Amino acid sequence: VLAMGALSYLWATPGVAPGFFDMFVLAFVERLFRPTYKKDDIVLGKKLGEGAFGSVYRASSVKPNSKKDGDLVLKKASEFGAVEIWMNERVRRACGNSCADFLYGFLETSSKKGPEYWLLWRFEGEDTLADLMQSKDFPYNVETMILGEVQDLPKGLERENKIIQTIMRQLLFALDGLHSTGIVHRDIKPQNIIYSEGTRTFKIIDLGAATDLRVGINYIPKEFLLDPRYSAPEQYIMSTQTPSAPSAPVATALSPVLWQMNLPDRFDIYSVGLIFLQMAFPSLRSDSNLIQFNRQLKKCNYDLVAWRQGVEPRAGSDLRKGFELLDLDNGIGWELLTSMIRYKARQRTSAKAALAHPYFDKEGLLALSSMQ
Ligand code: ADP
Ligand code: MG
Repeated sequence: VLAMGALSYLWATPGVAPGFFDMFVLAFVERLFRPTYKKDDIVLGKKLGEGAFGSVYRASSVKPNSKKDGDLVLKKASEFGAVEIWMNERVRRACGNSCADFLYGFLETSSKKGPEYWLLWRFEGEDTLADLMQSKDFPYNVETMILGEVQDLPKGLERENKIIQTIMRQLLFALDGLHSTGIVHRDIKPQNIIYSEGTRTFKIIDLGAATDLRVGINYIPKEFLLDPRYSAPEQYIMSTQTPSAPSAPVATALSPVLWQMNLPDRFDIYSVGLIFLQMAFPSLRSDSNLIQFNRQLKKCNYDLVAWRQGVEPRAGSDLRKGFELLDLDNGIGWELLTSMIRYKARQRTSAKAALAHPYFDKEGLLALSSMQ
């Protein structure tokens, strides 16, 4: 084990954090000291969601001394829950700010429906990004939530752009945390982004389809139905030639190499690019129009510039407004968008590179100049 650990350090690249210490030491110590829960500690509230692999409820704990836990969220999951618990524990230790605050997960065997995995998180807030994007007011309805009380600037495109920029920065920051840990989410969409009232930021939820390339957990993507509305065109995020489920130590040692060969993180980048697009173009926020957009883009061989040339001449005011927003500052937003939505994964930018894109620099400069 020591030798494999040393190997994984040797092989480590910036893309994949060496996980030896985390997996074998931290995980063990944490098991001993973190609070645990059991079925009788939990009181169920309103149902929040129902997916193919489980149901999600608002909940609270009646465990003695658990008042400080506040409101909770409980997911009762099928057999895939085991992977989801593993992912959440890993994320909590490696990049806790990226995702909703995970408390505990366990196997519950006394249910009539057969064994279920129960997962507990802190309740982060009422709204997902999908809920907030439904509002006619978006993105203004998010302004004070993430920027606080800012000075009364005129409500123009610049201001809208500033709010969207801030959301994008938070999403890319969270995604960079996951990717640097070796985790690809594979189900990035507004429904899986929660607004955290505590930190006043957006966080990622729902690691039910996530995969950790570093240890080969849930390695075979075709086992899952990906959400077609937000999926990148590639069906497999790792080349089909890479071995299907390497044993943990082998994968730990090889993963940085496989990662660099396949760049599986770029799958999430495509999805987050679609979210950027939906934020810029109000008409693309509905499911039906997003699906129609996907069809149009496919017809253009996933060339966003060709799509623009096709729709812009006969664009209504809504589409024109989106292009105008992305064209601000010499088209810096459009440039970022086109670097995320590309057919070839290899040609897409990474979360880390996107964060360093000048689209966000200008925002920093603005913040600086407003402080002076
Ligand atoms: P599913 O597998 O059903 O998609 P999710 O993990 O996405 O499960 O959760 C379903 C819904 O529950 C989310 O869309 C969100 O509205 C809500 N939810 C999940 N986790 C939290 C949390 N930590 N805080 C607040 N709401 C949450
Ligand atoms: Mg979900």
